[in-house]
Amino acid sequence: MKHRGILIVVSGFSGAGKGTLMKELISTYDNYALSVSMTTRKPRAGEEEGKSYFFVEKEAFEQTIAEDGLIEYACYCGNYYGTPREYVESCLDKGQDVILEIEVQGALKVKEKNPQALLLFVTPTSAEELKHRLIDRGTETMDVINDRMRRAAEESEIMDHYQYLVINDDLDTCVKEVHQLIQSEHLKVSENLDLVADIQKELKEMKGE
Ligand code: 5GP
Repeated sequence: MKHRGILIVVSGFSGAGKGTLMKELISTYDNYALSVSMTTRKPRAGEEEGKSYFFVEKEAFEQTIAEDGLIEYACYCGNYYGTPREYVESCLDKGQDVILEIEVQGALKVKEKNPQALLLFVTPTSAEELKHRLIDRGTETMDVINDRMRRAAEESEIMDHYQYLVINDDLDTCVKEVHQLIQSEHLKVSENLDLVADIQKELKEMKGE
């Protein structure tokens, strides 16, 4: 029987480059599925419905909450963001490793319900570097950037709930590091109890027990 996939939660400050990192990871390696979130935020230039997000009105979002259609959701800078349940569950059942790129409150909720989930936090090398990246991106006004820096300060308080830091300095190195972290999860004894039991049984039989 194929093993259930691993649920990977990736958070990081807005502007830390986690979107680019995840896209690169998925295009470089097989077996990763990226969950597409639902949001009430308006699309930015270049964002595509169903690829970047499922863009919905507040009423539709609240309806999905009522139907228990989301694994988790949170309010971030005045908008709702949530993870649709169905896609994630079906990928995990097929043995695919599923990546949720979500903010910290949602991440804590996922960990609470799925203690075996792997939590990664993406950060640049300093707060100064973070601010430069947000400004260079050129997609937000200075008010929004300041709002996101304030939010980053709050998020930094929750960083120690994560298992691993991903320091996003060099993209290629980071992609390899994240892949290795996920592969290590597959080798955990707790993920391989069937194999352990088989080896134990076989060894007992060899001893003639
Ligand atoms: P942005 O508006 O920049 O696309 O995303 C803002 C924040 O919302 C980011 O930190 C992003 O990771 C987070 N986010 C995106 N989708 C979800 C989701 O489904 N659930 C939660 N809790 N956060 C999300």
